[in-house]
Amino acid sequence: MIKESVLNKIKSIVGKENFSDSQEHRIVYSYDATPVFHQLPDAVVFPNSVEQIIEIMKVANEEKFAVIPRGAGTGLSGGSIPVENSIVLVMTKWRKILEVDIDNQTILVEPGVITETIDIEAMKYNLFYPPDPGSIKVCTIGGNVAENAGGLRGLKYGVTKNYVMGLEFISPTGELISIGGKNYKDVAGYNLRDVMVGSEGTLGIFTKILLRIIPRPKLSRTLLAAFPSAVDSGKAVAGITSSSIIPSMLEFLDNTTIKCVEDYAKVGLDTSIESLLIIEVDGKTSEVEDDQKKILEVCEKNNALYVKIARDENEANRLKSARRSAFSALARVSPTTILEDATVPRSKLPEMLEKIQQIVKEEDVMLGNFGHAGDGNLHPTCLTDERDKEKLHRAEKTFERIFNEAIKLGGTITGEHGTGLAKKQFLELQFGNAGIEFMMKLKQALDPNNILNPGKIFTLKPKCEGKLPKSISEIKNFEV
Ligand SMILES: Cc1cc2nc3c(=O)[nH]c(=O)nc-3n(C[C@H](O)[C@H](O)[C@H](O)COP(=O)(O)OP(=O)(O)OC[C@H]3O[C@@H](n4cnc5c(N)ncnc54)[C@H](O)[C@@H]3O)c2cc1C
Repeated sequence: MIKESVLNKIKSIVGKENFSDSQEHRIVYSYDATPVFHQLPDAVVFPNSVEQIIEIMKVANEEKFAVIPRGAGTGLSGGSIPVENSIVLVMTKWRKILEVDIDNQTILVEPGVITETIDIEAMKYNLFYPPDPGSIKVCTIGGNVAENAGGLRGLKYGVTKNYVMGLEFISPTGELISIGGKNYKDVAGYNLRDVMVGSEGTLGIFTKILLRIIPRPKLSRTLLAAFPSAVDSGKAVAGITSSSIIPSMLEFLDNTTIKCVEDYAKVGLDTSIESLLIIEVDGKTSEVEDDQKKILEVCEKNNALYVKIARDENEANRLKSARRSAFSALARVSPTTILEDATVPRSKLPEMLEKIQQIVKEEDVMLGNFGHAGDGNLHPTCLTDERDKEKLHRAEKTFERIFNEAIKLGGTITGEHGTGLAKKQFLELQFGNAGIEFMMKLKQALDPNNILNPGKIFTLKPKCEGKLPKSISEIKNFEV
């Protein structure tokens, strides 16, 4: 536990109205959207200036307690879950849009701005902020940058990192640092932007974020294609992406997910079909017409039962809401919902879908599968009950096997949710010892007391005084 005198010091920095160590607050901030993991922090703070955060980091380094940055807590890899001897630093009050620069097509925001708000602001100028995680209405841009969040439009428009032009952040040792800017070309020094984006709250606390915004597409069209099997829809995805079409959305739902979505959102889906794709194309009218024609041909070639084209924006939004509500719909079915995001090269999607089906059968688990199929990014979601240890064990084994298959196919253990706590034991599969040690050395150089979000991505000995553990097995002994 953090000493009372230290908690009082923190309280005097942020003011008593922005500090709480009540049991209620500690419970509320003890978990995020990731199942199974939770830990009570010693206190929760809501800083409202850069100076306050700097002071907190200085005290944390002197008194050796951990600081856990947090946005809206929608993370799915346990990134904002506290560790022992920690305070949670919540950034949701930082909600200002500071500048829209039409000439340079940039928007400068505070980290607590809700992601959807950024696109709504851009829309006023006929501009567009494309990254749209399924949690767009609640998650913060700070959390998106920390996780390098993706979304439904990732295939054509890329992910958060493709829009971050500059960052202001506070380092783990309490220095204010500013990187990047409005230049479209800038190769001065190391590319720190790409180090910080996706750093999962372990290398700095973002306080300002400069984003690129782009011209809004003129027209979009949404289609729904039904298939007799998940593998057929996977083949259609590979067919679409290999015929030089880049849809703005290419999303997949399997039969379990379709049934749960229909039960929850009542969008009029046909629950007898095995699999469906929700496809959106956008751009100039001629481009859209052309892409639509080619997509219809590819779907037909891959055994599509039918393809529906949305008649208007309302119908398009209804179809897209089927995909957006997939996670919430599945989460109603069982006490514990474990959603993962194994990702493979797009050409390997049919093979991966087949493997998942086989693993699910062999491990006898209930699993709904959906995801950003156009990116090869699947969200196999296990519906289980953490109170039943045997059931939970089978779910964990299922994911272990899915991650192994993804890696074998040249994929990754996470396409967009981050490593956090939930996937750190699988990171070695992907990077090997040397890769993980390289990351650890970076963390240790920038955060010598292991203060900022320790225990995420990998486990480093807390307060390790200059000495790096030599091997992964040694590292595993140092549980945070
Ligand atoms: C229903 C649902 C749908 C989702 N769909 C998607 C999706 O399509 N694509 C996708 O990529 N993700 C998705 N997610 C996951 C999640 O929404 C994203 O990871 C999001 O970026 C988290 O933002 P947050 O504000 O909730 O951050 P939090 O969960 O609070 O934190 C996430 C990480 O960011 C760090 N962090 C937060 N703020 C800061 C800051 N200011 N400075 C430094 N570090 C910070 C935290 O320490 C933590 O490591 C979904 C989640 C849910 C519940």
